[in-house]
Amino acid sequence: DTRTYHSLRPPVPLPPVTHPHPLSVTDYALSLLPSSVSSSPDHRYYIIDVASDQRLIFSRTLRLANSLSLHLRDRLSKGDVAFILLPPSFNVPIIYLSLLSLGVVVSPSNPLSSASEIAHQVRISNPSIAFATSSTSSKLPPNYKLRLGVVLVDSPEFESVVLTNAEDDSSSASASPTSSPSSSSSLPLPLMSNVNGVHQSDPATILYSSGTTGRVKGVLMTHRNLISMIAGRYHARHAAAEQQTPRAVCLFSLPPFHVYGFFVLIMNFVLGETLIWLQKFEFEAMLKAVEKYRVTLLPVSPPIVVNMMKSKLTDKYDLRSLQTALCGGAPLGREVSEQFQAKFPHVELLQGYAMTESGAGSGMMGPEESRRYGSVGRLSATMEAKIVDPGTGVALPPGQKGELWLRGPCVMKGYVGDDKATAETIDSDGWLKTGDLCYFDNEGFLFVVDRLKELIKYKAYQVPPAELEHLLQSHPEIADAAVIPRYPDEEAGQIPMAFVVRKPGSSITESQAIEFIAKQVAPYKKVRRVAFIDSIPKSPAGKISRRDLIKIAMSCSKAR
Ligand code: AMP
Repeated sequence: DTRTYHSLRPPVPLPPVTHPHPLSVTDYALSLLPSSVSSSPDHRYYIIDVASDQRLIFSRTLRLANSLSLHLRDRLSKGDVAFILLPPSFNVPIIYLSLLSLGVVVSPSNPLSSASEIAHQVRISNPSIAFATSSTSSKLPPNYKLRLGVVLVDSPEFESVVLTNAEDDSSSASASPTSSPSSSSSLPLPLMSNVNGVHQSDPATILYSSGTTGRVKGVLMTHRNLISMIAGRYHARHAAAEQQTPRAVCLFSLPPFHVYGFFVLIMNFVLGETLIWLQKFEFEAMLKAVEKYRVTLLPVSPPIVVNMMKSKLTDKYDLRSLQTALCGGAPLGREVSEQFQAKFPHVELLQGYAMTESGAGSGMMGPEESRRYGSVGRLSATMEAKIVDPGTGVALPPGQKGELWLRGPCVMKGYVGDDKATAETIDSDGWLKTGDLCYFDNEGFLFVVDRLKELIKYKAYQVPPAELEHLLQSHPEIADAAVIPRYPDEEAGQIPMAFVVRKPGSSITESQAIEFIAKQVAPYKKVRRVAFIDSIPKSPAGKISRRDLIKIAMSCSKAR
């Protein structure tokens, strides 16, 4: 059976693959900018920081990014990798834009990652430069030779580098953002002119994900991949945005190193919309910011939707400006959606589905599609899908559950330096195996039923079991270990739980095992429950029988 599901959305124009001229994602983004910001280019805010009320306008963003590019262009070449270990700040989008325009591969990591997690990522992406702060830089591997060293973005040197070439705002207040921002000077403008001849097929980003199995890998996206993501979203949103006056005001509290946050940051730029950045997430601060800035759009993950649905704090603030809540990153329960909708009838609750490897927004609800509770929307314009029976490999018709396979121009190029994992994830026809158990209904709505893959998602953050198992197995008192999701947990979604086999004579306790892991991983990756067992159930081929362990975990929790 070759049954393929095609998108029901209008086709999206993409630049031809064999574009005659170099075309970077920044070239493409800037080409879309004029129609959204050119009418009042200099005074539209791109980002407002909630804590400080500091504001960054679009034209200044471009000047700062350009200024950084001028500084970096002689030191970095196309294809060099930059490792980014930064807490949220205005510098993040400026650095992203600058590096992408030079064809330098942007590889952002969670600043909460542990030193050993970072060492693993650095081994994968092989960066020649890192951008960090004085507090995060100590986690970079000390023995790793970064050819160009570490740029501390909270140092006065960095500030002066970026500011040196960026003109004072007032001097070009009337310049359009696509005309040269420092047109009065004779300096070349790397951001505007693709000085390194970046092509669509060149690598653009390496994000980190464990995919369907094993340890963290580097997900390589090309400029073409990012251009396709932008195109899909731009055409969907821009049509809607034109009818919307005033434009969307988006509250941003997503991690900018994850595909979801990375993409919203770039997309907001392209759409010329204002982003209210809550750099340190706190629930009540979010509600306050919605009221203060008259926020209309709220991209979030399920725990925040749950919190909004439950919390009484929402009564304290005027949230009437909210028009849309966009939820993605992990499953959102049907009941939660319904209760959220009953509490906030004026807010459209839309779900989006994606995977780091598939690019942002593979399935997405359009505004006309909300209130399909439980669905993650219809396929994005550029995507094709199959639902494949995991046992037989047969492609299934609507209503039947199987593994979701995706194909389209947003799907990653592959895992960096790991052809084996790439071949296991993307087949020779270009189908990406998502590891999610899904079905389509007769109207093309996609439903995610369960996760077939190992991956655990704690509050929408990835927790790769293989990584925790590896660590547990390194403990001198542990003979064997397996990590599984204990679920459902309404707020976190899933809780990582370990089954541990003690070595003879060992009396290691639950809290000792938890502590052992907690010291070595980012906080969200902690094992939160440990059960001791005589042996780990395995298949004849030696694979951990995770389903059996999940059943045991469920029966234990019932017995408690
Ligand atoms: P990540 O690569 O971190 O974005 O994780 C991708 C995985 O998160 C998907 O393969 C799904 O298992 C899960 N996921 C993302 N969005 C949704 C959603 N809307 N509903 C259910 N699961 C989701």
